[in-house]
Amino acid sequence: MLLQELSEAVGVSGNEEAVRKIILGAIDGHAENIRIDPMGSVTAIQKGTGGTGLRVMLAAHMDEVGFMVTAIESDGTLRFTKVGGIDDRILPGLRVRVGADQIPGVILWAPIHKTWDQKGVQKITSLRIDIGASNKDQVNSKIKLGDRVVFDSRFMELSDTMLRGKAFDDRAGCSLLVDVLQGGPYAVDVLAAFTVQEEVGLRGARVAAQALNPDVAFALEGTTAHDLPDPTADPDDVTRPNPACKVGHGPVLTVLDRSMITDPRVLRFLRGTAEANSIPYQLKTAPGGGTDAGAIHQANAGIPAAVISMPCRYIHSPAAYLSREDYAHTLKLIQAALNSLTPAALEW
Ligand SMILES: [Zn+2]
Repeated sequence: MLLQELSEAVGVSGNEEAVRKIILGAIDGHAENIRIDPMGSVTAIQKGTGGTGLRVMLAAHMDEVGFMVTAIESDGTLRFTKVGGIDDRILPGLRVRVGADQIPGVILWAPIHKTWDQKGVQKITSLRIDIGASNKDQVNSKIKLGDRVVFDSRFMELSDTMLRGKAFDDRAGCSLLVDVLQGGPYAVDVLAAFTVQEEVGLRGARVAAQALNPDVAFALEGTTAHDLPDPTADPDDVTRPNPACKVGHGPVLTVLDRSMITDPRVLRFLRGTAEANSIPYQLKTAPGGGTDAGAIHQANAGIPAAVISMPCRYIHSPAAYLSREDYAHTLKLIQAALNSLTPAALEW
């Protein structure tokens, strides 16, 4: 399965080569003008058949959150920092892989009484990665400062419906975008962008959007589902916190996040497309987070944009959960949108 290959590939921000290689292989023959842009993003064009002339950018980011080695201690342990957003609470005891050779290690911690902060969470500055070396010289031959560190994680099919793996944010989006290209062409031109450095500030997408200059853009994402049961919540209480989205309830259309307010015309079009095709969907109104669409919609003279996501539990961890049904419904929605978008949908 392509998603397994993409999930297990290592690609912390700025180090997306392995993911790029898989994608270049998978889209070969399914698009034209396949390029690696100056930032390292892959862009490709698939001409449409509908004659509207509309050019629709689909963006999925290749990078994942992880860590970087910042110092090698005399005892052979490694200091490290985060690349992208990771919850400090999941760090102690985490299995990781370090550097190009993917050397296995574990995040260890100093004695508990010395290092807890006021919230009872281990500070990252008190944590080290232990690769089993006993001194600095043993490490120096294998690991350099700046080496990236990833979650040590295998992809699993947990059941007929549930998949588990790392980096579904956003390798699920990358896999989806490959499926879109392989299933084309569509009525509109598809401008595909597999972007770099999303997790550190939406950087690759900004440049890709400026070069592609589309009429409309959709960011394809794996997004956070806060949908676990809260034993204290009254299900009939409409004032209880709105979970970001739920696994198994279909593609997620963002209304607003920290990086963007979704273009109302594009949101209206996507909702109408889902309803016309009996595809379940959910609206995300939690104001946190951001996506490549946040950079794309402000590129050039402004580009109407939206985010279409698959709900994933435990993103930015070694074990994200994704439903196959959500994946299939998201693909169906994107394909229906690419076959039904017209300039009229973009009128104010
Ligand atoms: Zn993402």
